Parts: sequence; structure tokens; C-alpha cells
Amino acid sequence: MDRKVVRSETTTSTVVTVGSVRFGWDPFPVIAGPCAIESPEQLGAAARMVAERGASMLRGGAYKAGSSPYGFRGLGPAALEMLALAGREVGLPTTTQVIEPGEVERVAGQIDMIEIGSANMQNFELLREAGRAGLPVLLRRGPSATIDEWLWAAEYLLAEGNDQVVLVERGIRTFGDRGGDTLDIGAIPAVKEQSHLPVLVDPSHASGGGVRVSPLALAAQGVGADGLIVEVHPQPERALSDGPPQLDGEAFSALMDALGVNKMRKEVDLVDREIVRLMADRQRLALAIGRVKATRGMPVRAPSREAELLDIIREEAVLQGIDPEHAVAVFDLILDESREAQRRERGELR
Ligand code: MN
Repeated sequence: MDRKVVRSETTTSTVVTVGSVRFGWDPFPVIAGPCAIESPEQLGAAARMVAERGASMLRGGAYKAGSSPYGFRGLGPAALEMLALAGREVGLPTTTQVIEPGEVERVAGQIDMIEIGSANMQNFELLREAGRAGLPVLLRRGPSATIDEWLWAAEYLLAEGNDQVVLVERGIRTFGDRGGDTLDIGAIPAVKEQSHLPVLVDPSHASGGGVRVSPLALAAQGVGADGLIVEVHPQPERALSDGPPQLDGEAFSALMDALGVNKMRKEVDLVDREIVRLMADRQRLALAIGRVKATRGMPVRAPSREAELLDIIREEAVLQGIDPEHAVAVFDLILDESREAQRRERGELR
């Protein structure tokens, strides 16, 4: 049976909304926070640290599915409350991993986005529950999963009627000996060819050390990832899980600065697209007026109306703090094109 909904041929890119954050639309949102929630103080410090430095969402582990049964397993329900509170305090939406299907409902009642960890990518019961929870879902790629298996796992969520799914590439099984998995940077463009879902990169778990997080994050931005999920801890050397790859405040600041110029360029791209969209809207309205004028036998050009319009433009430009003559020059071009379009419709031009 074919995948029905995760493929991209029939669908435009999906925008996943969590509070005011829009994955697949905003310029490179960053989810940040500690690997594990250890105490209200630790989480509060991490939350303020990431919020002040421009993170879009707060993460933190309440339930840990560590590879060793003897490692820190998280504080469970108590940590969920801490996360919800810390998120409210700094004004960021929250996400945390769920590892058992029976916990989905409890988690969904307190946080804003469910995360499925890499060890659970093919926990199909958990996927079904998460798909039904009515919340957006982050789906991490399993360390040994092919892209195909990853998309099939996403299909489980979408099959429950939940299209608010964000994929996360976090590193795959490797023969490398750097102390972590190998970040599959090539998977980002590959997955984007095949699916309409946004894709984030986790540069922390494959880094094998904090100093390598930033280069991987920049690579993610370079290959077109839709954002990051990164681990930040107020004191990484004292962390109860995943110590060294977690960034401290200073390193996180440096990372956000490094990403910033590109992020601003993306914001400019968005504004430019918006300008073109508004130009198209204006063109449609002008043509509609042109049709009315044509049926009444009125000429295309209405000099007094144009003068009035340019006065409005000058006034608005002054209000917005930009050079009014520059704004008028832009509008002269727009009005030229508007008249041409109306004449083309009347058959006066070819
Ligand atoms: Mn971790």
C-alpha cells in the first residue's frame, strides 16, 4: 500500500503551528533547553537563558529513554509541571518526549508539542496515540532508520488525521569514532524532495562535544533545514544526562549570533515575497476597477485620482519614517504597470 499523505506531490509545504511559532514558515526557529529536567532551578535558569537569546520554544526531558537502564530516567510528571511553568514564565511554548502510549494524554494536557524520541520512532502504538492527541508532534529519526522508514513512521501520525508533524534528523548509526552518531546532513534535502513536512536538525546528539554543535547547526541551515532543536544547560559539566554536547549560555549566544545573519536574510526574503503578493493583490483590484471604468466608457487614466493616491503614499511614507520621494518613485512604476494591464485588458495593447 502506498503512503497517502506524507508525500509531497499533491500537497504544498505544511506549516506546523505551535503557539506563535510556525515551523516551515518562520525564518529558522530554534527549540532549546536541557536534555533532562533536573530541578525547577536548573530548568528556570535554562529557560531564561534560551528565551533571552532568541529561542522560539523550550524543550526539556521529563521521561528519558536512555540506552542504559542505570542512567537518569527523568523526574516524570513533576518535571512536566516544571516545564509548563517555566514555559509560561518566559513566554515560550514547550515540548517534551513521551515514551509510553499511556502517558500521551497527561503530557498533552500540559505541554504544547509532543516529541517522539529516536528510540521510539517505530513504536507504532505510541505514534497512534500521539497522532490522536490533538497536538503537533516532533518525530525524531531512529538512528538506524532509512528515510523511507522515517516517513512511514510519520505516516502513522498523519493517518490519525494529524498533519501537524515536524521531522527531526539527529544522526544515524555510523562506523565513525567521534563519540556520537553521524549527522545525516544529506537527509535534509532528500526528505524535503519527498515530503511536505518541515524538517529540523538536532546538532547536539551527533556532535560528540559542544564545540562541534555550531558547525553542524550552520550546515543544517545551509542545506535548507527548517530550524534546530538544540540542548542547552546552565552548567553542562554538572548535567545528569548528555553532559558535554549541551551548550552553556555563552556558547548558545555564539550559536544564535552565527545563525542570525542568515536568519535576517530569510526574514528579508519573507518580506519581499509579501511585497510581491501585495503587488498582485493591488493589480487584481486595479483590473476590477478598470473593468467598471471600461463598461462606463471612462478612460484608463484618471490624473486627479493618481495625484490623490500619491499624496496618500507620501503621507504614509513620512509616518513610516521612509523617504516619501522614494516611495512615490516606486508607486510611479506600480501605477505605470497598472495602466498597462488595464489597456491590455481593453485590447488597446498587445
Ligand atoms: Mn539528550
